[in-house]
This record gives sequence, structure tokens and C-alpha cells, in this order.
Amino acid sequence: MSEKELPKAYDPKSVEEKWYGFWTEKKYFHADVNARSTPFSIVIPPPNVTGSLHIGHALNATLQDILVRWMRMSGRNTLWVPGTDHAGIATQNVVERQLAKNDVDRHMMGREAFVQEVWKWKQEYGGRIINQLKRMGASCDWDRERFTMDPGLSKAVIEVFVTLHEEGLIYRGERLINWCPRCHTALSDIEVEHEDEKGKLYHIAYPLSHDHAIRLTVATTRPETMLGDTAVAVHPLDPRYKDLIGKTVDLPLTNRKIPIIGDSILVDLEFGTGAVKVTPAHDFNDYEAGQRQKPELPRIKILNDRAEIRGDVPDVLPDVLKRIAGKPAKKARGMVVELLQERGFMVKTDDHAHSVGKCYRCKSIVEPYLSPQWFVKTRPLAEPAIKVVEDGRVEFVPRGWENTYFEWMRNIKDWCISRQIWWGHQIPAWYCRNCDKGVLISKIGVGVIGEGASRPAASGEVVTIGVDAAAIVQREAPKQCPRCDSHELMRDPDVLDTWFSSALWPFSTLGWPDKTKEVETYYPTSVLITSFDIIFFWVARMIMMGLHFKHEVPFRQVYIHALVRDAEGQKMSKSKGNVIDPLVMIEQYGTDAFRFTLTAFAAQGRDIKLAPERIEGYRNFANKIWNASRFVFMNLDEDYSPRSSLHTPHISLADRWILSRLNSVTKDVQAALVDYRFNDVASSLYHFIWHEYCDWYLELSKPVLYEEKGSASRQATQTVLAHVLETSLRLLHPIMPFITEEIWQTLPEGARGLESGARIDSIMVSPYPVADEKLINAGIERDMQMVMDLIMAIRNIRGEMNIAPSMQITAIVRVESKELGEHLEKSSGYAKTLARIKELRIGVSEAKPRSVATAVIAGAEIYVPLEGILDLTQERDRLQKEIAKISKDIEVFSKKLSNKNFVDKAPKEVVEKDTAKLGEFKVKREKLEQSLRMLE
Ligand SMILES: [Zn+2]
Ligand SMILES: [Zn+2]
Repeated sequence: MSEKELPKAYDPKSVEEKWYGFWTEKKYFHADVNARSTPFSIVIPPPNVTGSLHIGHALNATLQDILVRWMRMSGRNTLWVPGTDHAGIATQNVVERQLAKNDVDRHMMGREAFVQEVWKWKQEYGGRIINQLKRMGASCDWDRERFTMDPGLSKAVIEVFVTLHEEGLIYRGERLINWCPRCHTALSDIEVEHEDEKGKLYHIAYPLSHDHAIRLTVATTRPETMLGDTAVAVHPLDPRYKDLIGKTVDLPLTNRKIPIIGDSILVDLEFGTGAVKVTPAHDFNDYEAGQRQKPELPRIKILNDRAEIRGDVPDVLPDVLKRIAGKPAKKARGMVVELLQERGFMVKTDDHAHSVGKCYRCKSIVEPYLSPQWFVKTRPLAEPAIKVVEDGRVEFVPRGWENTYFEWMRNIKDWCISRQIWWGHQIPAWYCRNCDKGVLISKIGVGVIGEGASRPAASGEVVTIGVDAAAIVQREAPKQCPRCDSHELMRDPDVLDTWFSSALWPFSTLGWPDKTKEVETYYPTSVLITSFDIIFFWVARMIMMGLHFKHEVPFRQVYIHALVRDAEGQKMSKSKGNVIDPLVMIEQYGTDAFRFTLTAFAAQGRDIKLAPERIEGYRNFANKIWNASRFVFMNLDEDYSPRSSLHTPHISLADRWILSRLNSVTKDVQAALVDYRFNDVASSLYHFIWHEYCDWYLELSKPVLYEEKGSASRQATQTVLAHVLETSLRLLHPIMPFITEEIWQTLPEGARGLESGARIDSIMVSPYPVADEKLINAGIERDMQMVMDLIMAIRNIRGEMNIAPSMQITAIVRVESKELGEHLEKSSGYAKTLARIKELRIGVSEAKPRSVATAVIAGAEIYVPLEGILDLTQERDRLQKEIAKISKDIEVFSKKLSNKNFVDKAPKEVVEKDTAKLGEFKVKREKLEQSLRMLE
């Protein structure tokens, strides 16, 4: 027995802590920028600093870690950059909620103190997700951990903003944006959640100005916005209305005349009344329709930034405005409906379900809102970014995601990058209070929010910055106004969209804009692993920014992984209660089993259906490896060292077979890793280790291992036994890093360095196996397959015919050809031992005796004579009784399942289970009947 020993059972927790600590201490995760080998680099999709590890992170981290460990073992200069995102609104809200518990409002604190509070929160809680990633086994270079608001990354943000502004690709303009009236900020599209709500569709009559008897009916879910209508649109080809284009209607409740316009995009000829109200200041489609008109339609804002009706909406009848001014939009809606009814403009009201946009942080209804914001002009950036994907310089895996990317990029709109919050990168723009007197409206006082998008600028001050204000954009704060030398400057209070800094992540994390060795070595990165939902918001923007500032793609390949769903294929959500918590799974089954499960199900283009039982199944796989390793250790000599070469003539057929299989599998695994077929990597290794190595090879090797010490064949088999285990551990390490390290470290030293001979201290820095083609032998694989089929067939017969395990039997094999017979003859020893055969006859012309059990395998028929082995009468009796019993069961279940009442009312799982049981019974009866026939 070898000197070291594995404990009886695998205890993941202690093993995981021990080795993660060891790897970190040895700095194995750290990439040496001066290393000579070819670089391989990955940047992590930075999780939100407020985040807690969910199943999506777990999958994402596992797949990255597999690639990183594989490449590191393959000798590449491997860097995996970790980090977190400051997550503007999300983080600000977390801290705001925390302060609210003590009745503190951020406006009371003022900007500086509040931002300091967020930093404090970050120091205390921001590391949570990082520690959770460590528990997953992620081998990130923690010395290079980054945060999107680090000084270095902030410098990159300023550099990019100012450069794009100088190039005319960043501008300030008044645009319709998504506005949260509670959070008081613009939101990006991704920050708006759409929910279906029951509402009403109101049909309102607009009389023609020149003939009040003719009225156009428009339909809307938001009648209050009619006060901001500036046109009615009809389809230019609609015979009912085309002559009205150019005429006007009298807008009810106002003294405004608005034109009837033709617009074939806004109006669907087939749908509704054919006339559509146009409110450019409060609807995205109407906004665009307004821009299509020459001259553009006026935009009338009826709401303030708290989504209340303004007191100064133009043209509204004074008595109407008096009633609704200052009312929240939803309340005003009812009042406007009443007024329209009173005055005879309401045609009818229908129930109508429609989608409502809500703020993803606070669930308030999001308003399309016209306000001055900063924008990136995206089209010039998008064009080269489309080209590199067309050219294949960036490849999507699976390929189909390219279409999603192209569709969005070809219809790209300018990107609103300003946010009216305090936590984030403050925009490097200043205004002169002297020159811009007319367009900067400042009010002092907490919580005073004026009309328009007003920003709390500093403690107590609220400023409205008109769209025409002349911004001074530069890298450092200006000392005085370049135009009038005034020192009265104020900085733009807005911060940048969180995605602005993450768009720079592949190069800002490497030290750009400084010229660092890291940028030179590791940019472009090799591959990005992410999920499909951020292709637009992140992947596309990284490609645009990478090309613009580095003149090179940020990564060569983008692997888009699937979504993890529950066992029924439902999306996991807290409200459904079907969330699987990675940390609970790790506690319960160990990290390796959890990682292996995710990998085994990570098939390209298919969502993962996950259930804890599946993880339990792969925990059994970990235990299987553990027990097999214990067997190996017990069967190696105390002073084991590989005494024979893998090419020695003393090597057995089974040895040569398992070596051939090992190398075939190595080849398959390498190929699957190259193609990102993670599930194939897992299934090849699972099948090989469990079924071929543990189930067969360990059995086949026993007779040789029990030979006397010093026998050459025993030594050869020990060498193969240890070699295959050791190589399998290295193949498996990227998926199951902990258990493989634990077993590997327990292997006798000689068994660890078989290939290189050099001393290596950890499996994670040992070489990844490469197939030795010379050891692959298809003939041997075929011969062994045949003898294994034979053994299985005879074992089956023994089981079904109830032959005592100790009973030695005779078996006759009629082979299809002489050649096959010769092959089988060579390996017949294994069959004799493993199937307890005392006499084995193999031949082309063997005849079938009477009273035999038979079985068929590829190329041969097998007969086991039963006379003298069984009491045939008694056995027939037994079989008949069993058949009678199972027939009764079949009858009961058939009856139950043909009862429509039961099938309709019983839970689906019960019906499914019973159906499966009935199937099993039928198969079993078939087998029993077959056995009975053999005895005739
Ligand atoms: Zn909100
Ligand atoms: Zn000035």
C-alpha cells in the first residue's frame, strides 16, 4: 500500500478552503506580464458591487475558470482580470434605503457627504460577491482586481469623454428620455421594466376647424396627454382622410388648432380609426413622427419632473388648467376624462390591457420626458463595430447571436449617457455663471425642484441647466472661464451611465490611457464569456470603444451562454420561490459537484434546466472518483514509483485498452474545449472515468494486481493504473479543481511527474494532457468492447435466470467469422474471470444445445446451457409465478390509466409516474416470458 492515504469520505469544505488558500499563497493565479509564452486573457463581466452571487454568475464564473485553468495548464501566459461595477442607480438606492431607516435623505446630507457614505458602504459590503466568486474556485488574478470607480479607471472615463466631445461624438441636447419621477433621473432602456396592466382605451372626438360637424376620432390610453397634442396623423393613402391632410382640428379643452398630417409609419391603415393623436413631448413614437415633419412639430411639455401637470401648459382653457394644474398625471387623467365627457368629446371607453414601463429600482411609472441630456453620437462608432463582426474579427459563439447584434447595431440610436444621480463618474463639464446667466436657473433650498429637469448641484442648490448652456469640457477642472475670466464656475452635476465605464473595461482595467506593459501584452483579450441579455448594453459598446480608442477589437470571440432555469424550464424568480442559491448548493454538495453540473448542462444554444437532484447526482460522481482513487492507492506498492514504461511488452490487453481510451478521450476533450462545447467535455470525462476506468478497468486489473510482488505484469498494471488516474485528474481539473488537487497531492510523487519528470507542486500548474496518438489503438478498443459486451450479456443471463453468483457456468459463443473468434479468444481470460465461466467455447460452427439461455451481441450469439445449473422445473415454476404476479400489476395500472376521470384529475406528475411504471412492468414481463421460453 502507498504511504499516503485518502480519508474514507470526501469532505469538500475543508478541502476547498485548504487548496484555495494554497493556490493564492503560491500566487498561481497571478499573471507575469514578462512571461514569454503566448498570452491568453479574459476580463470578467464585472458584477454589480451591490450584487450577491446568483446562479447566472455561478455559470459564468465556472465557464471562464474552465478556460483559464485549461490555458494556464497548457502553458499560456494566462490572465483573468476580476472586478466589480459601481452600478450607479442600484448602489445609490441601496445606500438611500439604508439612510432612510434613520430618516436621513440624501438632499439633507448634501452631495459630498452622501458620496462619502456610499464609499463607506462599498468598503464594508462591496467585497461580498468577490468572496463568493472565490468560493466558486475562480482563479482570477486578485492582485489585479479593479473597480469601475478606481482612480485609474476614472481617468480612462474622463479621457474617453473629453476625446469624444472634441471629436463631436458627444453632445448635449434636448431629447425624449425615460424619466423616473421618483428617482429624478433619466434611465436607459434596460432600466425600464415593462409590465402588462389593465387599463382603458379612450376614444376622443376632435372636430375639424372648418366644419365642427365632422369629427376625427382618436384612441389613447393616456387622455391627459392630449393637452400636449400638436398634430393628428392619418395615413397618406387612406381614402377617408387623405384630402384632410393640411387642414386643422380644434383640440378639445384648449384653444389650439393643430394640423392633420400624413405619416405612413405612425399610422397603421389596418388598425383602429385610422387617425392618431401626436404628442411629441410625451411619447417616443410621436417624438420621431414630429421630427419627420418639415418644419418639425412643436413639443409641448405638460408634465413637470415629478410627473405633475404643469401650471403653464400653453393654450389650455383657463378653467380646465385651474382644475388640473399640479395634479399627478394619473389623477389628472380621470379629471380630463370627466371634462371631455361633460363637453361631449368622449366617444366611448373600452377595457384595454397595455404595457406600462416602470423604474427597475423603485417601480414608479416611467415617463417619456423631454429634457437636456448628454448623448453619444453612436452611428460613426457603430459602423466599424458592425464591420469587425462581418469580417469575423470578432466571432459570436453560437453564431446565431450575430444576427441579434447586427439588428441592434444597424438600428442604433444615440446613447443617452447622463444620469441625474450622485453616485458615479461626474461629467467633466463646467458652466460659467456669468456667461450662461440666462440659461442657468439656480434656486437655493432643500428639495426645491423647479420645472424641467432640475439638478441638485451642490448642497442645497438646485440648478436648471438650459440646453443652450455653453459647456466647458476638459480633463481638469478649469480655474476660470476661458471667455470672460470669471471664477464663478459650476460643474455639471450629472454623472455618467454605468455602462459608459464598463464599455472601457477590457482596456481600462489594464491601465489605459497609460501605456502599460499589460495593455501591450493582454489587449486584445482572447474571449469574452457573457449572457445574451447584455449584448447591446455591454458587448456592443465594448467593441465600439475598443475599436475607437485602441484601433483593435477588445476580444476575438464572444461566447454567449445559456440561461439557467428551474427543472420545469421556468425562469428562476424570488416570487415563484424556485431560485436555486449557489451558496446553498456549494454547502450541500461541494463546489466541484456544482461546477460539474453547470458544465454538463452548458450546451450551446440551449437553456439549462437545473434541479438540486442533478447536483446530487454529480456529487456521487465526485465520490466515485474518490473511492476509485482509494482503491488505486491501496493497490500501489508502498515504495511505488513507475517502474515500467507504458510501452513495455508486459502490459496487458486491458492496460493497452484503457491507455487507448484515455488518449482518445484526451483528444475529444481538447477538441471540445477549443470549440466551447463545455457539455461535451463534461460528458466525455464522466463516461470515461465512471464507466470505463472505474467500472471496467479497475475490475479487469484486479487479477494482475493480486499477482505476487515483483511480477513484471503487476508492475506494468500498477503503472497504468496510476498513470490513467493521474492524467484523468489533470483532464478534469478545470471543471473540478478541488477534489482533483486533493487526490493528486496524495499520489506518490513518482506518479505525478510521469510526463515531464520535473517537480511540480500543484495540479493547477501541471501540464494539461495532450493525446499520445501512438497509444490509440482502434483494434484493441474494438476487441475489448466485444469482450465487455460478452461479459455484460452473461451477467444479464445470470441475473435473469437466477443463477447463483458462485456457480461456475459454461458458455458457448457462435461468432460470425473466424477472425472475430480469434480476437475474442485473445481476451477470453477476462470473460472467464469476470463472468465466472469455467468453460468457454468460441467458434463459427458451434451449435445451439437444448435448454439454453441465449443472448446476442454484435458479431456473435451466446448460449449458456442451463441443464445441471438450474432445477429446470422449479425455475419454470418460479418464472410462471412471477409472470402471473406482474400481469396482475399491469392490469391494475392499465385500468387506472384508462380511467379518464383519474387521468384528468390527478396531478400531472402522478400520471406520468404511473405511466412510466406500467411501461417498466411490461418490459419486465417480456423478459420473464423470454426466459421461460428458453427453458422449454
Ligand atoms: Zn425610480
Ligand atoms: Zn464666462
